[in-house]
Amino acid sequence: MKGKDRRLAELKAAIPEVTPAEAMALQARGAALVDVREADEIAQGSPVGAHRLGRGFLELRVEDSVPDHDQPVVTMCNSGVRSLFAAEELQKLGYRQLYSMAGGFSRWKNEGLPFETPQRLDPHARERYARHLMMPEVGEAGQMKLINSKVLLIGAGGLGSPAAFYLAAAGIGTLGIVDHDVVDRSNLQRQILHADARIGMSKVASARQALEALNPSIKVQGFETRLHSGNVEEIFSGFDVVVDGSDNFPTRYLVNDACVKLGKPNVHGSVYRFEGQATVFWPRYPKRRGPCYRCLYPEPPPPEMAPSCADAGVLGVLPGVIGLLEAIETIKLLLDIGDPLVGRLLTYDALKTRFAELALLRDPACPYCGDAAQEIAYVDYEQFCARTAA
Ligand SMILES: [Zn+2]
Repeated sequence: MKGKDRRLAELKAAIPEVTPAEAMALQARGAALVDVREADEIAQGSPVGAHRLGRGFLELRVEDSVPDHDQPVVTMCNSGVRSLFAAEELQKLGYRQLYSMAGGFSRWKNEGLPFETPQRLDPHARERYARHLMMPEVGEAGQMKLINSKVLLIGAGGLGSPAAFYLAAAGIGTLGIVDHDVVDRSNLQRQILHADARIGMSKVASARQALEALNPSIKVQGFETRLHSGNVEEIFSGFDVVVDGSDNFPTRYLVNDACVKLGKPNVHGSVYRFEGQATVFWPRYPKRRGPCYRCLYPEPPPPEMAPSCADAGVLGVLPGVIGLLEAIETIKLLLDIGDPLVGRLLTYDALKTRFAELALLRDPACPYCGDAAQEIAYVDYEQFCARTAA
């Protein structure tokens, strides 16, 4: 008897085998189905909902996908042999309920069980996003998610510029930009998307040039308009996350109200002189309930109390820091990794070089996101600040 056959006989005695139909039933009851085949095999199809971990890095990656050693695990390959070896390795890692799928994916397919053909990155994308692909928190599946994501930036200004650059570089497939302004020389101290040669050009067109030069594989969708109650829902409806880079109260309230109504996360940032802050307003975040902007500030201040955007002044680098925090939060939300700034306000004092964090509590009686919230009617507050982008 060859060593291979002897080992197989030992494994068959030690690891219970299940049919593909039984594997699917186990999966429906909470078991993890772990596909250990090579990437080129998985590209031909893999059971719906399977963890596609491959064999090479299986031991290194499996605990990120299946953290609980008590969760039943069914390993599968193409014929049911490699999966037996893989199951034994998982046993050594501490998994207690292991099964191997007899007959593998070929039998799964022959029995007409549901499978899907996972989207793959092309060679250019593999090269471009190589540093993302190395991290299990992103990986190929995560990068595909980013590529299929749509993020809307409110303003191509001080906050929107750095956020847009890095989101484009990260491969967010569709970047929407709302801005009705043109590039002005006084913007260039902080709005790094734009350039001296493009003074007078619409900010949306200027942003498109900069972003497509950085990453031609993404799509920039421009909205050269002021956001108002009549267009906000139509513009927002196609996007997964809204990044608020506006610097005026009417827009902030409108962004909040539309995000609450449509259930979308509102990644919020603001800057003033040497101080900035960032948070995520998303009352419908599945893992914990956070506030909306109106839980904290139910109504905008009267126009005479708000600092004029043109007069307030800001250190040009500061929106860079805050805009990048917004970009990172956006990517975390899209990938569902880490702990987002939902219900947390991060403040940054540039002069003291000090970050601080405040808990933001939701108001259960908030008329917009609270327990007894009514249908949201949008308000066009008086535009008391001339510019819409910081
Ligand atoms: Zn609220």
